[in-house]
Amino acid sequence: MITPTVLDAESDRWQRELAQAIGDPEALIELLDLPKALLPEARAAARDFPLRVTRHYLGLIRPGDPDDALLRQVLPLGAECRPTPGYVNDPVGDLAARAGSGIVHKYHGRALLITTGACAIHCRYCFRRHYPYGEDNSIRHHETMLQQLRGMTDVSEVILSGGDPLSLSDRRLQRLLEALASIPHLERLRIHTRLPVVLPERITPHLVKQLATRRFATSLVLHVNHPRELSDALRPGLWRLRAAGVTLLNQSVLLRGVNDSAETLCHLSEALFDHGILPYYLHLLDPVAGAAHFEVAETNAIALHEAMRARLPGYLLPRLVREVPGDSAKRPVHR
Ligand SMILES: *Cc1c(COP(=O)(O)O)cnc(C)c1O
Ligand code: SF4
Repeated sequence: MITPTVLDAESDRWQRELAQAIGDPEALIELLDLPKALLPEARAAARDFPLRVTRHYLGLIRPGDPDDALLRQVLPLGAECRPTPGYVNDPVGDLAARAGSGIVHKYHGRALLITTGACAIHCRYCFRRHYPYGEDNSIRHHETMLQQLRGMTDVSEVILSGGDPLSLSDRRLQRLLEALASIPHLERLRIHTRLPVVLPERITPHLVKQLATRRFATSLVLHVNHPRELSDALRPGLWRLRAAGVTLLNQSVLLRGVNDSAETLCHLSEALFDHGILPYYLHLLDPVAGAAHFEVAETNAIALHEAMRARLPGYLLPRLVREVPGDSAKRPVHR
């Protein structure tokens, strides 16, 4: 048994780190030695969707380089404020697919839970950057969600999403997992998270213990877009998860100026496998308002994927997909 004191000490450590995340564009620009001229537009864009980046992630960014692939994912830019036709607030039809408060049910047998609106990092391309989270991490909200899930007997896989489900405290998560475990028709548990990548200390021994349960076949889908996001600090936690029987997968978003080269994408797949993670999806950008400057044209995306296919073993080739509202699965992107 893990005693409450140990649990609290572990939680304290990552939650303290989380509380130290940077939210002020001026601080980011100073810490990374970036041109001051970036500040006015960063401030303007952050009004709509605030800046947020952990100290750990900050340490992976190359100082002094405004075009750094990791910086681009977190630095608010003036381009976000320019409306672009086709780029909308709810690009994948999440609101229409809300089966109940906080449950998004689009695909056969799988239900996705919006467990919280909080994230450790704000990714500028996030397709839920305008999502009306409201009280999504309240205890009442979780209870309503669980109640509803009990009635959805054709669902065998529950997907914890958000926001980032691992931004919930270990206690909240434990409550949620215990409640899920008591729902007989659930067989698989999946957690979609970027938290370990931006705050490796989040993979606490207690979290691993929670996920090691035999009750579910469990997978954790990380969200890594660039090989430099896979730091050595991440390795011990990932190996503990694997040793606990958790399947580690990755999904990336294809982003202009971040990972839109065959070399970077191949390197990413190899680095993932080196960390015990299998590439799962490579998503085309969802057309969310404020993210148009990240778009990679579909023909270029297909060419990049073909180049990856020519270089990588099949098991390291992610599926190139886009999400089309109303479809019964993610749609493969082909020539
Ligand atoms: C992407 C998504 C899933 C998971 O789809 P898989 O193809 O099983 O990875 C499930 N539910 C919703 C609402 C989704 O958007
Ligand atoms: S961690 Fe995920 S949900 Fe949170 S801002 Fe980034 S992409 Fe969006």
